[in-house]
Amino acid sequence: MPHPMHHLIADALQLAAAGVPVLPLREGKGPLGNCPACEKISPTRSRCGGRPNMRNPGPCQCPRPCHAWAAATTDQQVILNRPWLDAWREARAVGYHPGGANLTVLDLDNADAVAWARQHMPATRTVATTRGEHWIYLGTMPSSNAVRPGVDVKSLMQYARWLGPGTGTMTRLTDAVRTLVVRNEEANPLPIGGRLASSTPAPWTRHVATGCRHTERYITDGLTKGLAKIRAHIKSGAGSQTYGVARFLAAQHNRCPGPCGLDTIAAHLIAAATSVGVPDDYATRAVTRGFDAAA
Ligand SMILES: [Zn+2]
Ligand SMILES: [Zn+2]
Ligand SMILES: [Zn+2]
Repeated sequence: MPHPMHHLIADALQLAAAGVPVLPLREGKGPLGNCPACEKISPTRSRCGGRPNMRNPGPCQCPRPCHAWAAATTDQQVILNRPWLDAWREARAVGYHPGGANLTVLDLDNADAVAWARQHMPATRTVATTRGEHWIYLGTMPSSNAVRPGVDVKSLMQYARWLGPGTGTMTRLTDAVRTLVVRNEEANPLPIGGRLASSTPAPWTRHVATGCRHTERYITDGLTKGLAKIRAHIKSGAGSQTYGVARFLAAQHNRCPGPCGLDTIAAHLIAAATSVGVPDDYATRAVTRGFDAAA
């Protein structure tokens, strides 16, 4: 199905006029890549330092739609500037930043997820997606992928695909929705084999931890609890929590002959810490020092 550029731009301008920040999405629904000046030098940092509205405010004034959700804008002049017109030409869909429009999207990937939401989530406006539905609430909250199988929460610092206004009356976020993000790591094991965020490290497996004395279940349960502790510190203290969790988890392997797959555990801890705003070099140091302290 073709999506001529002018349709995308028309949708984008209409959303922007309604106060919804928009961005172009490429085929496959992802944002367009960063330009060379904005190239990523780590999963959370780019050469240009990032946009001013990112978690770690940067100086980037790039006129292109770089930095995914952070590029989303309601400014018609930006949407129609030369670099964005080039981007719209490549784009296949319009994305929007729900948090920037005071919205939260519960992204239900499949029929099971929709059935679950109908039982447990407050009714609100819904939009049909390829295999599931978006449930759209008023209000913002932290975003998180895979809060349950097939369920993502997209609000602050995230983008969602625009698929039309949907149907039904939009309702305010309730605790039932809000607690999905804080509680998900406690209620569910690590989403091993489930849908993971693109930056999520590979799951811990026996395959790489042939010298570990512990069961896979024991390790992933411990890791899950540790990640929940780190992610619960959204406002502050996530760095020292990361250090404590790293030290605690690594100490469990002091008597294993190894290898214990500690690299994988470290990657998960760093990802959790950066997801709540700890700069990645700081998170890496916290984990390294925690591991050292345990040894
Ligand atoms: Zn750029
Ligand atoms: Zn940039
Ligand atoms: Zn071990």
